[in-house]
Amino acid sequence: MTSDGRPTTVDEAGAAPTPRKASERRAQSRALVLPETMTVQYLAEVLNQNPIDVIKLLMRNGIMASMNQVIDYQVATLVSTALGIRTSMAEAPTAAKGSAAKGAATEDDADLVVRPPVITVLGHVDHGKTSLLDSIKNSKVADREVGGITQHIGAYQVESNGHPITFLDTPGHAAFTAIRARGARVTDIAVLVVAADDGLMPQTLEAINHAKAAEVPIVVAINKMDLPGADPERVKRQLSEQELLVEDWGGDVISVDVSAKTGDGIDNLLENLLLVAEISELKANPNKPAQGVVIEAKLDRKRGPSTTVLVQEGTLNIGDFIVAGGAYGRVKAMSDDQGKPIRSILPGYPAEVLGFSSVPEAGDQLTVATNEREGRSLAEASGKSNAGTSGQGRALTLEEVVNQVDTDEVKELNLVVKADVQGSVEAVRGALERLVDEDATVRVLHSGSGAVTESDILLASASEAIVISFSIGAEPSAERLADRMGVEIRHYNIIYQLIDDVEKALHGMLDPVYTEVIVGRAEVREIFEGRRGTQIAGCRVSEGRMVRNGDVRVIRDGAVVEDSTISSLRHFREEVNEMNAGTECGIVLQGFNDFQESDILEVHRQERGRR
Ligand code: GDP
Repeated sequence: MTSDGRPTTVDEAGAAPTPRKASERRAQSRALVLPETMTVQYLAEVLNQNPIDVIKLLMRNGIMASMNQVIDYQVATLVSTALGIRTSMAEAPTAAKGSAAKGAATEDDADLVVRPPVITVLGHVDHGKTSLLDSIKNSKVADREVGGITQHIGAYQVESNGHPITFLDTPGHAAFTAIRARGARVTDIAVLVVAADDGLMPQTLEAINHAKAAEVPIVVAINKMDLPGADPERVKRQLSEQELLVEDWGGDVISVDVSAKTGDGIDNLLENLLLVAEISELKANPNKPAQGVVIEAKLDRKRGPSTTVLVQEGTLNIGDFIVAGGAYGRVKAMSDDQGKPIRSILPGYPAEVLGFSSVPEAGDQLTVATNEREGRSLAEASGKSNAGTSGQGRALTLEEVVNQVDTDEVKELNLVVKADVQGSVEAVRGALERLVDEDATVRVLHSGSGAVTESDILLASASEAIVISFSIGAEPSAERLADRMGVEIRHYNIIYQLIDDVEKALHGMLDPVYTEVIVGRAEVREIFEGRRGTQIAGCRVSEGRMVRNGDVRVIRDGAVVEDSTISSLRHFREEVNEMNAGTECGIVLQGFNDFQESDILEVHRQERGRR
């Protein structure tokens, strides 16, 4: 050993030891001296191997070890032998090397235990997400206790080589991002399902971008390998175009060939998921009150609100006072994914929980209160704050970005870019990505052709992004969702204007944008002559509301004939401030006495911050 504890090679003839690389060692047929114990990372280093490969080799020998795990000499030799490298043990026992040797574990670390990874399955429609989830579920039922998985609770667990893996049973990136949009981080690894006969499709690209935006590692499952048209090489090439380089292509993205239909490759997929989980070092402290996320919730006629909870930290026990969003209660009963009653749930485990007073929403974060009163007030406070922000969105407007750039809060401007055709998507994206500023950079989370969809809004909301749409509108449902979640959609038809605005935002000097909001419409039914030639329009409010002093335009046969303001708004003889849809009122406009029956009065106002 050298003085710094690094291993040395020992010449078989007993020559002086000198540090060498593994390749040299092999070539010269020398034995590598290893300490009695060492971390996996250390072993990888001295073997000149990628730590992932070392972890894989250990797994092949039935040993699950993370990068920082301490292994002993015997275990290390399993790896070195597999690599054709001979070893010998250092004479004097040495302490564990690598990061594990940095010092005694803190008390907190001592409480941390490895938890099961939580997996979400993403991919294009019909590429086999549901089939894969079913296939995994079914292939493992035999390994489980009697009864198998009978319940659908929105999540289930299987075991691979004795290690549990939790799957969220609602595939697709909309569900994935919806939960994220509510501020919860649930998924540890995304399985990207790509049909081998179909290749990467628009929703595959969306899924990739959603996973990347969430910074969740991706494992690719190339599915439908049983089909004659399966072409996994094409899939890998297409993935490389999306900056996902699979291992065969020299990258580090794991890709596994599977068939959800025949079950081929499923075990391999599970092993690889465990491998990625190992590398991610997923740990949690079970020795504290539980924290988790609501995965699914429904009202069961007989049993009341039934909620699937994924515990992320601590342990949830029967009798705990719980709060999730605006719902609270006390855990009455819990059951696992097989419907088996359980008394507690550990981190990384899902379970169905009974005892909430009302139905929480998927994505609500679960916490434990000290008593019922605290639970109720936490729930009430959460209900109020939800109402206040009309949704959970944390999205910013471009103007807010400007302010935050000014105050150093935003360094990255996240964008979701949609355009009419692929050609313009690329043009817009290319132009945007060329914009660099020392204050902030542009990050296009997702781009694609076609109208802005709900999924785009969810992604934007989850990642505090702004949606830029070029020469294309938004689906009505997406508009509504954007409104609810406070996501800004900026529509442009001229690329220079778009680039200009984004550039201004980056420089922190965007001018405010005003958009028109229609407050209400009323139809003129009858016209009365008032004093001094003033006309009073007898109206019925058809939608929204009429507002005194509101800006109004008179529309006749689809054309605007006058822009004015409401100077008088009366209900019978009484002057009022507002009249709602379905009511009748008398309206006088400032300087306009030319009403005709069937004129439409449209009240509008300018709102800041939307385009
Ligand atoms: P999802 O929309 O991604 O959830 O896709 P589904 O799981 O519903 O699968 C779509 C279709 O592909 C169904 O008809 C499945 O039977 C079929 N399918 C899924 N996986 C495989 C597979 O591995 N091999 C073959 N041949 N068909 C598959």
